[in-house]
Amino acid sequence: MKKKSVKPQDPRSPFLLELVLSNRCNLACDYCSSSFLLKDGARKVLPFSTLRRAVELYAGCLEENGLAGEGLVSFTGNEPLLEFPLLRRVVRYIRRAYPAMRMRLDTNGTLLDAGKASFLSRNGVRIFVSLDGCRAAHDRHRTFPGGRGSFDAVVGALRALPEKLRSGGDLCVWSVVTPETIGLLPESLDFFRGLGIGTVVLGLETYARWDAAALRRLKDAFRCFRSRPLEALGGCPPPRFLFGLSGASDFRGMIGQAVSLALDGRFYPCDFALIPPGGRDLSVGDLESGIDMRKLDRMISGPMFRRIERGCERMSGLRAPVERYYRGLSLGLSGRELSRDLRDTSRVNLLFAREMSGYLGLLERGERLATAPGFGDLAHSPKYSADKTAAAFRLRAGGAPLSAQRAGLDLFLYAPGRTKSLTLGFPAGDAPARGSAADLCAYSLAKAGLLGLKLAVSLEPE
Ligand code: SF4
Repeated sequence: MKKKSVKPQDPRSPFLLELVLSNRCNLACDYCSSSFLLKDGARKVLPFSTLRRAVELYAGCLEENGLAGEGLVSFTGNEPLLEFPLLRRVVRYIRRAYPAMRMRLDTNGTLLDAGKASFLSRNGVRIFVSLDGCRAAHDRHRTFPGGRGSFDAVVGALRALPEKLRSGGDLCVWSVVTPETIGLLPESLDFFRGLGIGTVVLGLETYARWDAAALRRLKDAFRCFRSRPLEALGGCPPPRFLFGLSGASDFRGMIGQAVSLALDGRFYPCDFALIPPGGRDLSVGDLESGIDMRKLDRMISGPMFRRIERGCERMSGLRAPVERYYRGLSLGLSGRELSRDLRDTSRVNLLFAREMSGYLGLLERGERLATAPGFGDLAHSPKYSADKTAAAFRLRAGGAPLSAQRAGLDLFLYAPGRTKSLTLGFPAGDAPARGSAADLCAYSLAKAGLLGLKLAVSLEPE
């Protein structure tokens, strides 16, 4: 199952190269966007030489734009693990020829085992396993060709992986939510909390219609996250829940940074490679001529994309309008139906922005803290501990490095006493110091959650 993970980059160079290895899949999910490829009886697999050439062209394109070392190659399907020997060869080639290139694999997980997972992990390939939630949610759409649900196969494969691989940062779950399964989200989140995976990314099914009743269920589901702010900050055991397109802020962030090599040996913008041809040439290069970023840029400022921009008030959030629109075109939908789809997409994204902006802010803060120099992970214990009960503490934020201030907070938080009060002062009008105070506040609350403390925090300008 394919997914998007894009971030704004230099507009003249693709951030991501997606390689569609074959048209084979061992599942028959009812929402599969590339099912037209599966129906095309003959097995089609891209040869190693084609894949290698595509990677060379991509790497050349990055280098021309001063972005060597910034690349990300994504392997997709239909189910790439059906072609594991080919995948292994391409991964080895990339690792040898472009040591800094990042790689990721999208898989339905049914064929994953310890041998494949450890090979991929050793070679720095991040694995995204499609798992839509609890059994009822997953098996609602993701079935084998005879109709049997694939939940047992996927969860069995994940549970059989060594703990280190399962909980390490290289393995993520990608979960697709649909109007039919959104009511099961609370149950699905609890299931994910017990699975031992570090990151779960939630996205919405691209082609489903979200009518008023489904949108109400979606709005209710957002409460599941908002009621657990510590989870966003990293103050709870994994997983961390992330959201499909929340990092992409505009059109270019969503589509202009990714190209796919399709089974016809041509490059396409992003996911168009997996949508039935819509009667117009949307390819942006081939193995002879290379990746044509100018054509991609022209396309993005062309009439079709302008129409999408006009019709979709909010592009990013949980749904991508472009793929959906183009799929509609290729299916022969009328202009009216296409406009309705764009409005539908916009409504979902606006709802997401309205309901989840606070939670996304906490996620960002948690991420910043976890990667701040010298700060360490949130679970990390202090070097020194106090013996005396500490019930109240005042700290002046700003000035000293965040890591030193963390050490002071840890002394207080780890000291005996279960009920505590913390005041974080900062010079009035000093925006960076206020930001540090807010970071330290977030850290203290997350840490208090981990340690089971009752903590009251106040921020005071001085
Ligand atoms: S696993 Fe992915 S490619 Fe295979 S049928 Fe399901 S959605 Fe389609």
